[in-house]
Amino acid sequence: MSDVAAQAREILARLGAPDPFDADGELICRSPIDGAEIGRVAAHSTAEVTAAIDSAEAAFAQWRTTPAPVRGELVRELGTLLREHKDDLGALVTIEAGKIRSEGLGEVQEMIDICDFAVGLSRQLHGLTIASERPGHRMMEQWHPLGVVGVISAFNFPVAVWSWNAALALVCGDPVVWKPSEKTLLTALACQALVVEAVRRVGAPAGLCRVILGGVPVGEALVDDPRVRLVSATGSTRMGKQVAPRVAARLGRSLLELGGNNAALVAPSADVDLAVRGIAFSAVGTAGQRCTSLRRLIVHRSILDDLVARLAAAYQTLPIGDPLDAGTLVGPLIDADAAAAFTKAIEAARADGGTVLTGGVEAEGVPGGHYVHPAIVTMPAQTDVVRAETFAPILYVLGYDTLDEAIALHNDVPQGLASAIFTLDVREAETFLSAAGSDCGIANVNIGPSGAEIGGAFGGEKETGGGRESGSDAWKAYMRRATNTINYSTELPLAQGVEFG
Ligand code: NAD
Repeated sequence: MSDVAAQAREILARLGAPDPFDADGELICRSPIDGAEIGRVAAHSTAEVTAAIDSAEAAFAQWRTTPAPVRGELVRELGTLLREHKDDLGALVTIEAGKIRSEGLGEVQEMIDICDFAVGLSRQLHGLTIASERPGHRMMEQWHPLGVVGVISAFNFPVAVWSWNAALALVCGDPVVWKPSEKTLLTALACQALVVEAVRRVGAPAGLCRVILGGVPVGEALVDDPRVRLVSATGSTRMGKQVAPRVAARLGRSLLELGGNNAALVAPSADVDLAVRGIAFSAVGTAGQRCTSLRRLIVHRSILDDLVARLAAAYQTLPIGDPLDAGTLVGPLIDADAAAAFTKAIEAARADGGTVLTGGVEAEGVPGGHYVHPAIVTMPAQTDVVRAETFAPILYVLGYDTLDEAIALHNDVPQGLASAIFTLDVREAETFLSAAGSDCGIANVNIGPSGAEIGGAFGGEKETGGGRESGSDAWKAYMRRATNTINYSTELPLAQGVEFG
């Protein structure tokens, strides 16, 4: 057994999760650090998916009438367990998804933050009181639990995405059935162990949180079950285009968090030192494998050469290698397919007239893993390869002369997740944030597009899917709204003055 496999096994034991080596397991888990096998787990059958939804439905009958602040106690307990096990779970994220240690820990911190948010929310699930046009009547809205929430998650946020959904769903009164990425099964088993312990401690119904393991057929069984009232699916646009019509065909609800192709504008007035730092983190963090990673840099031509030279110099200093080592800033890509997609995109960019200023080739890293030198590529135009999301660290650079031109370039992609402008000019900043500016769900000023806080609603437009998760009023997607009209008079006046008999 490799070192990382042994570490993963020890962590899972400390978290109370099952041993990751099931002799009969057909799903093979590998660490992107060195490609080593770190587990073998059994896939669920479609009958087992149905059984998981059965038990979630049974739990719903009890959970929906549990007072919301009492439901919050479960999420508080989950947050406590996450605090206790932050270091272990963060290390497991590094081992299984390849994030550097501080990003692995950051992902667990995000889980803790959403738990705190959801506990507060459990006392604030309030609706409106509305003036009635009829005398002796009152109108109000109530928000009721929706039912079973199905969560499908991607490899690159193997634990946080589940927690964004689960923490809100649980306080909203909904059970959760989770299908994690087949590339990150061990972190899912770890989270499941923690939530099962939280459920046990507060005496909540046992079927409230279930995890189902497997590939597309397991996901489809979840998506197609009419008892799954909301399908919250995070992953590629390709996946969203498969899932959304299936959910729509049964008139279910879906919340889609799909691919991004995020850009930053850099204006002549920008604080260039700050911009370089913000751009480097957004473009290179998580080895370019964040949905919000910066992929396109749209720079005013007057500062383009200087900015790009400084960025390229910063890229030369990036420590690439084992994400478990304290000094590393760029870890591995998730697998060989991701490395091939990186190389293919670099070739396509060159064929389109692009110039690779730095990177774009494989890096040494740890034997068995797929490490690359992050690339900066200047492009003569926004060609097809620039308009597609390649889930790897490639930053395409385009020049602009007027802000209108920059915004038009910015919005001329199919995706609409996250965006940013670096400027000290209030007119430019406000134009970028206005209805005539960025068409994304997230638009920032003087910070890069990645690294969102949980307090805001998170999600994007166009092919990013339109869903919103996490903070603000995203919780409303996990509940059903009932409008109530109460007559406390002795008369029965009809709305709009209608007379009947
Ligand atoms: P992916 O689409 O390959 O897989 C995501 C999940 O969908 C997995 O659990 C997979 O098993 C499941 N799946 C795939 N096809 C399915 C189907 N037909 N029915 C049901 N389930 C199906 O994505 P990935 O490679 O794991 O993750 C990277 C992608 O996710 C990138 O495009 C990235 O931008 C996106 N992403 C988006 C967000 C966001 O919030 N917008 C967050 C993280 C990742």
